[in-house]
Amino acid sequence: MGKIKKSRKWLDKLQLNHPLLIAGPCSAETEDQVLKIAHELKGTDVSYYRAGIWKPRTRPGNFEGVGALGLKWLQKVKSQTGLKTATEVANRTHVELALEHDIDLLWIGARSTVSPFIVQEIADALKGTNKVVLIKNPVNPDLALWLGAVERLKSAEIKNLGVIHRGFSTYGKSKYRNNPEWQLAIELQTKFPDLPLINDPSHITGKRDMVFDVSQTALDLNFDGLMIETHINPDAAWSDAAQQITPKTLIQYTKDLKIRKESTSEVAYTDELKKLRAQIDVVDNQLLEILGNRMLVAEAIGKLKKEKNVAVLQSKRWNEILGKMVLEGEQHKLSEEFILKLFKAIHQESINHQKQILKD
Ligand code: PEP
Ligand code: MN
Repeated sequence: MGKIKKSRKWLDKLQLNHPLLIAGPCSAETEDQVLKIAHELKGTDVSYYRAGIWKPRTRPGNFEGVGALGLKWLQKVKSQTGLKTATEVANRTHVELALEHDIDLLWIGARSTVSPFIVQEIADALKGTNKVVLIKNPVNPDLALWLGAVERLKSAEIKNLGVIHRGFSTYGKSKYRNNPEWQLAIELQTKFPDLPLINDPSHITGKRDMVFDVSQTALDLNFDGLMIETHINPDAAWSDAAQQITPKTLIQYTKDLKIRKESTSEVAYTDELKKLRAQIDVVDNQLLEILGNRMLVAEAIGKLKKEKNVAVLQSKRWNEILGKMVLEGEQHKLSEEFILKLFKAIHQESINHQKQILKD
């Protein structure tokens, strides 16, 4: 077997003293729009200029991209500004056209990562390429699909690989367009520690005023870079208008975002501590969400009890639950004392919610 090439090499070669930044519009719309944005990003921290040429729209009837014509505009971006170029590819023809036009970075979109057939077709078309290839997470929170795509591309001898975390769609209401589910990105990073991990706060949030905070969380979690949708006139964008920011805002963000660099002893310690604390914050938020959901279920039960005129407190059932939880808790190394205290508090809160329902 040959030597394993570290996929980080392409990123290390850029010798950046800050996280990688990929920016540009969601879609290439006109030559003028593409070039104007690119000139504003010239000389900033941005290394790669992104623009979608073929747009995977969930519903038909929306702007579906300018097609191959946009690749010529990206070539002009490169020759006029020196920025490297990036676009999404979703089939063999896209790959061939992008390679013909010397696009430097090709990414696989979330709607493609869900399909092993498509991923394999793209991997075959890219076989052995030196271009950078980034794989977005699939739309659904399925780590195996994401890992599978990485494995297919690795098997196609694609050396310069990386992944983009763009969040996961949900049926229910959420403050995010796509829930971050940070733990999935962290797990992927644990499985493939040499793969650069890029965050896409634009598609996670869907709203420009949330982009900064999600970017900061990603950097706190030690992501290697950010891909941020940037447009000269965001509100007039032909796709994803609500989430795009101006180049000026982006430049301000690069100044305001706190970046921790790896370094020696004391600094290394505080760095590590901050990273772990960021992980704790993620888990704590999940706990709150889960507890909130539990109360919703308790309320639904409260409504049923009200209809049937049944008492809120049913001790037999409660004692059964407690016994079960103490046993389950042991398996997670949680003490009996803790489980009893925790579930007493949860139970009390549920009763309060149910009482409220009976009163209403
Ligand atoms: C995009 O980057 O514009 C895009 C379509 O993203 P995603 O595949 O994450 O939806
Ligand atoms: Mn977009």
